[in-house]
Amino acid sequence: MRIIEPHAHMIARVTDDYERMALAGIEAVVEPAFWLGAPRTSAGTFVDYFELMITWETQRARNYGLAHFTCVAMNPREANNVPLTKDVLPIVEQYARRETVVAIGEVGFDRQTDEEEAALRAQLRLAKKFDMPVLVHLPHQYKKQGTERTLRVLADEKMNPDRVLLDHNTEETMPLYAGTRYWRGLSIYPVTKLSVERAANIVEQYGVDRLIVNSACDWGPSDPLSVPKLVRELVRRQVPREQIEQLVFHNPIAFFGQSDRWTFRP
Ligand SMILES: [Zn+2]
Repeated sequence: MRIIEPHAHMIARVTDDYERMALAGIEAVVEPAFWLGAPRTSAGTFVDYFELMITWETQRARNYGLAHFTCVAMNPREANNVPLTKDVLPIVEQYARRETVVAIGEVGFDRQTDEEEAALRAQLRLAKKFDMPVLVHLPHQYKKQGTERTLRVLADEKMNPDRVLLDHNTEETMPLYAGTRYWRGLSIYPVTKLSVERAANIVEQYGVDRLIVNSACDWGPSDPLSVPKLVRELVRRQVPREQIEQLVFHNPIAFFGQSDRWTFRP
């Protein structure tokens, strides 16, 4: 099975993870920008972070035959630091046109504050300005309420739903997309978020149209092989092979392929 990993924080992983991912059939990985586990104190550290993902992580991935792409953004959590956000947004704009940057993200809500909404709106406008896809992070607390607020902001900013992927969905948020064209993401995470079994249930219930699955692996308890493990579970449940391949390979290509920087060709 050919697989794309569309959301992995490889900066937090060891080189062996790239090798395991390649051996499990993963051919390309997308690395969004996020919080690093501790608050940053100056905008310069964002320059170093973006640069490291674009250059060093891309090379580490290539050493194992994996393509690597990046998303840049001011993340929802640190967006509550207003002076820092003011300094970082121009850096996001500067890095948005770099060679492997395929989307703006992760943007969205964490604690669902007005400061987070201001940063989200500014970055949605940046994505429209450069005609780029957007990766939206849904909050983990009060998720339904946060998803509804996110959808209101997206509509208010007149975002093209084809260009927006909302990630970290659960059984609770999936019904909110009925009748919309937004891409829906499922992050498989062993402790919080979704187990492989719960993700497989959602795939069976809703089908694979506009659905994208990822491991969201980072510095927390997470598994870079979550997507291959979901494939194994879907095969076990006798989901047709074409549908599984659409889910884990063709859908992420269709979404990120809307970027002119997406150079991976199947
Ligand atoms: Zn993430």
